[in-house]
Amino acid sequence: VDNECRKYGFFFPPDPASARIATVGGSIAENAGGMRGARYGVMRDWVLKLEVVLADGTLTYFGEAVYKNTAGYDLVGLMIGSEGTLGIITRAWLKIMPLPERIVRIVGFFDRIEDAGRAIFRVRREGVNPLILEYADREGIIAANRIKKFNYPEANGGMVLVDVDGPKVGVESIAEKVVKIFREENASTILRPSTPEEMENIMDIRRIAFTAPARLYPGFIDGDIVVPLSKIGDALVGIDEIRRKYNVFITVAGHVGDGNLHPNIGVNPNNRDEWERAEKAAYELNMLAIRLGGSIAAEHGIGRLKEGLLLKQFEARNQLAAYNLMKEIKKIFDPKNILNPGVCALRW
Ligand SMILES: Cc1cc2nc3c(=O)[nH]c(=O)nc-3n(C[C@H](O)[C@H](O)[C@H](O)COP(=O)(O)OP(=O)(O)OC[C@H]3O[C@@H](n4cnc5c(N)ncnc54)[C@H](O)[C@@H]3O)c2cc1C
Repeated sequence: VDNECRKYGFFFPPDPASARIATVGGSIAENAGGMRGARYGVMRDWVLKLEVVLADGTLTYFGEAVYKNTAGYDLVGLMIGSEGTLGIITRAWLKIMPLPERIVRIVGFFDRIEDAGRAIFRVRREGVNPLILEYADREGIIAANRIKKFNYPEANGGMVLVDVDGPKVGVESIAEKVVKIFREENASTILRPSTPEEMENIMDIRRIAFTAPARLYPGFIDGDIVVPLSKIGDALVGIDEIRRKYNVFITVAGHVGDGNLHPNIGVNPNNRDEWERAEKAAYELNMLAIRLGGSIAAEHGIGRLKEGLLLKQFEARNQLAAYNLMKEIKKIFDPKNILNPGVCALRW
């Protein structure tokens, strides 16, 4: 979709890192986000209308192809993120945006995790309004250097990547603001890649920081937590503590512009002791998100694996009534329980 839009001077803002393999229907069903989430949010912000096949085979439409619509309940919103449990999405009407005139990429490497956390918060707090605000931790940078034969600084506090965009004249002063924040938060190296190749290489660090555990280990436990922006630093420190406590391989990549962190674990499932430590670490990572006022599922959904964690979160937040309503909604949409049964903890 994005490639097609670009031919006409537009782009489609949600850009999950899996964009090359992800479908539009699956991305709506998961309420996918992505690199540009700091500015443009998630799929929910870009879907106007849906064609849906209901469980009994009825083909129907939710929403209208207009920017505002209060005609009835927001069933488009209900479908987005419903993980295929309520109906099959067969067509979607999406919003698009004109391409920005110019993009400047600034990357800061930090020796202390706390400094990186503060820099991330300040980029959001101090009116930069970044297009992209991403993070890769030290383990992720080391993995990217190894896999791609790069030579980027393997700084203890990781790397913060910011894209700012706008008209040619205005974008420079915004970029300077980011550099100033990075300096004030003690960045040990600040880079401003200028060629498309340099820009891609440095983005590859962030991408590989996500996939490294799966590339380097036979087993992989996906991490997908989100915390309030003011708690990003606490979350990064907490993840590091869990890594040390259980002595497991964790890389952290994150769409930190919207508070989303992916602490992914690489593990050998045939090593029983290692697997048990990895499972305990994964559980604690999710509890950390709940403790910091966040959520155990940011953009990868609940599926079947996170059922217990979802119930824990609902319990901790006094939301069991909401969970019961979810079950009733599922029964109305899918009385025979044929659409992704068991997904999203929707059992009865
Ligand atoms: C390497 C990697 C990077 C990723 N990066 C991101 C990222 O940056 N941001 C992000 O949000 N996610 C990311 N993901 C997660 C995932 O790829 C996205 O959520 C993706 O958008 C899902 O789309 P899909 O077509 O692959 O869906 P699938 O995985 O095929 O399906 C997801 C769910 O939706 C249901 N579904 C599929 N199609 C429909 C339909 N037409 N109607 C109703 N239900 C349907 C399926 O039954 C399933 O329950 C990543 C995954 C990987 C492997």
